[in-house]
Amino acid sequence: MSKDKIGLNTICTHVGEVPDKQFKGAVSPMYMSTSYAFEDVDVKRYPRYFNTPNQEGLSKKIAALEHAEAALIFGSGMAAISHALMAFLQAGDHVIFQQTLYGGTYNFATTQLEKYGISYSFAEGWGAEDIEREIKPNTKVIYIETPSNPLLTITDMTAVAELAKKNKLLTMIDNTFASPVNQNPADFGIDVIIHSATKYMGGHSDICAGAVAASQAYIDAIWESSICFGGSLSDQTVWLLERSLKTMGLRVTAQNNNAQKMAEFLEGHEDIDAVYYPGLRSHKDHILAKSQMHGFGGMLSFELKPSLDASQFMKSLQLIKPSMSLAGVESTMLSPVLTSHALMSKEDREKQGIRDGLIRFSVGIEEVKDLKGDIEQALAHVKTKSVLV
Ligand SMILES: *Cc1c(COP(=O)(O)O)cnc(C)c1O
Repeated sequence: MSKDKIGLNTICTHVGEVPDKQFKGAVSPMYMSTSYAFEDVDVKRYPRYFNTPNQEGLSKKIAALEHAEAALIFGSGMAAISHALMAFLQAGDHVIFQQTLYGGTYNFATTQLEKYGISYSFAEGWGAEDIEREIKPNTKVIYIETPSNPLLTITDMTAVAELAKKNKLLTMIDNTFASPVNQNPADFGIDVIIHSATKYMGGHSDICAGAVAASQAYIDAIWESSICFGGSLSDQTVWLLERSLKTMGLRVTAQNNNAQKMAEFLEGHEDIDAVYYPGLRSHKDHILAKSQMHGFGGMLSFELKPSLDASQFMKSLQLIKPSMSLAGVESTMLSPVLTSHALMSKEDREKQGIRDGLIRFSVGIEEVKDLKGDIEQALAHVKTKSVLV
């Protein structure tokens, strides 16, 4: 059966299975060998070469999910991001990053690139025109993230891909927040698609991994430098990630549905000042999101009324966990001001629209009525507290 003809959940369940020829088991056997015979074989297999049986199988699944020719799997999302960037950049080159980036990527850009003689700019805004203003004669790569963290701002992938083609630049996207279920950037002409598989691909908050999907030629280029940097993933975790991906379509669809309902609930709530979710008509990029996403995702943010204490609210939650990470089947919340964006000045944060009462909500697969109930009881708790003081 052609990979192009089969649907998402079939890809999730079957593509890239390693057949168990010996016992005919239902799932891929786990091959833990770091050493394979080199006589009479044409592939020199070795984990750091990204080509053990389990690594190869899982790469096929991820490539199929992203409508790409090939993929590689890494030890973390940051390994995927740094290996992909370093494969294409060299001393004297310039890279343009979108305005808001995942904190680890921001940290990589600002602390590592200059050591290698690579310069960078951050676009002042999310549009292709904001990126275009930063293009220099030595620019090589445009790097975007959509939806972005924490306000779920959407970047127009078609416009960015066209701009890049016109200027002969390579485009990379961090597609973690959307997951391949909700967004396939290859269909819009983006060249290199990166995931922190720690998030929706893993989905159970128990795996740290990363992935890159692209054309065979780009993957070959990334492979060549990545075998030197050495960021491969252990076969045990590769196997677990294959298992997790089987249910990704189901999980993420449930998270999309729950997030839409929670966003609508919060938007209509008297104690909530603002809700940011691309699935809401009130979101500034709703129409753009609709044009390039299959679903609006499981991430949203909201602001409490200024009279309510956000950190007290988070402490009063009983079901929803306060957590740095995201995308698991369990709902989590965090305050970007106290965590992911704590190192940024208040002025810089406010310039990007990140106010002190902002809360980022990673919506899980629990029953919506239980999530609403938890938020209601936490709000009631915060309100009685503020009356007492
Ligand atoms: C978590 C995350 C990363 C980094 O992934 P790790 O697996 O933690 O290295 C990169 N981008 C986004 C959007 C993320 O959420």
